[in-house]
Amino acid sequence: MEIERILLSQRDFFKTQQTKSLAFRKMYLEKLKSLIISNENMLYEAINKDFGKSKFDTFTTELSFILNDINYYIKNLKSLSKPKKVRTNLVNQLGNSKVYADPLGCILVIGAWNYPYQLSLSPIIAAMAAGNCCILKPSEIAEHTMKAMASIINENFPPEYLYVYEGGIEETTSLLQLKFDKIFFTGSTKVGKIVYKAAAEHLTPVTLELGGKSPAIVTKNANLEIAAKRIVWGKFLNAGQTCVAPDYLLVEETIQEQFLEMLRKYIKEFKYDQDSEQYTRIINQKNFQRLVRLIDKEKIYSGGNFDEEKLYIEPTILNHIDWNDDIMQEEIFGPLLPVISFQNYNAALNSILELEKPLAAYLFTNDSEEKENFTRKLSFGGGCINDTVMHLSNDHLPFGGVGSSGIGNYHGKYGFETFSHQKAVLEKVTWGEPNIKYPPYSEKKLSWIKKLM
Ligand code: NAD
Repeated sequence: MEIERILLSQRDFFKTQQTKSLAFRKMYLEKLKSLIISNENMLYEAINKDFGKSKFDTFTTELSFILNDINYYIKNLKSLSKPKKVRTNLVNQLGNSKVYADPLGCILVIGAWNYPYQLSLSPIIAAMAAGNCCILKPSEIAEHTMKAMASIINENFPPEYLYVYEGGIEETTSLLQLKFDKIFFTGSTKVGKIVYKAAAEHLTPVTLELGGKSPAIVTKNANLEIAAKRIVWGKFLNAGQTCVAPDYLLVEETIQEQFLEMLRKYIKEFKYDQDSEQYTRIINQKNFQRLVRLIDKEKIYSGGNFDEEKLYIEPTILNHIDWNDDIMQEEIFGPLLPVISFQNYNAALNSILELEKPLAAYLFTNDSEEKENFTRKLSFGGGCINDTVMHLSNDHLPFGGVGSSGIGNYHGKYGFETFSHQKAVLEKVTWGEPNIKYPPYSEKKLSWIKKLM
């Protein structure tokens, strides 16, 4: 198999130790950066062909992230990779202890289609910064972006260091039989389980960036105008095809009517029209059909129109939703926003606790007790108070899920650590050797050891 040959060549290349040099890592990070900049237009065109994503959205939610990541690692490479000195305990005196960030070796990154550049290249960049070789398998569903990344990388990087393998389920299945030193997967919880099982065969560590139903809660103590504006933006960005988009809304009953009116106002103001070149389309027929089936006509508050030929679904708010409705049984991943009202804030938090742990959670309030209860009580990957989605743009925060929304995290220093082994090394002096730990043992030695430990 061709790809097996490439993996073997990466293994051999890793053994040459070249990827461990900071100059090598920096050189290739710089190279990737200049290739992204010089191919910017080609990247915009490819993603627009895949699902009509605008240049503005592509820059702000994809390319800017990637360029920022590269700049971050180039700037911080030295301090991130410097061995960290830690304290040495009494029994190991005289000695010193260090933790080395050791590259893992050969990494497999499997990407998702919804932010095809960011979700494929950001992990690669962190893996390169940490000194690894890498094979990337982008999502075949966003075919043009997959080909764009393959041409940029395969034409400019040695395959024994970095390689893009194009393919779908069949190719991924065969890739998963090979032994990697780490698999970094972004995608659905269902496929995440397949990846985890395959990785277990080789005891390969994984990072799984998965999905789930992320709630947004709005209480009567929120700045409602700001809440409405930020929820509409976070939900309908990329036509709702965002892993951290607010999946559903929990609104306090007393402000429900007023708040829904504000949501409707911002949807109108943001001009997500059928002919808009700024509003992203649904990725394919299959997802389009799945989403249309979730629109319960009886419960439409606003929107509800769609055009199959253009793969357009209007931003749609569905009101008076019940926890048992179909739309509450799966991650929506599209521009449909179901609204459930609540009377008691703590009971609303308890309802979220009944579900799988979400990738994100959002709370809109200015009440400090409500904020405290939200962060203490709920378990979720990451989230915001008084905003949506933006937590993942702060590379000082780790990004990842918990429970069925994922394992592990990345971004900034967390990405570097994800692709490094924390290698512990204790160095001892070779003089002054006390006999206390060596046989023959005695009660006296034991009492000394008890004192020392
Ligand atoms: P997906 O799980 O269908 O596909 C992801 C990758 O897995 C693709 O590269 C695909 O080729 C491969 N794949 C698909 N089926 C496979 C199989 N049977 N065996 C082996 N490989 C297979 O996910 P998707 O549709 O690309 O993305 C949507 C999902 O990803 C949503 O659930 C979303 O929440 C999640 N997501 C999570 C994040 C995150 O950062 N946590 C980001 C984006 C998307």
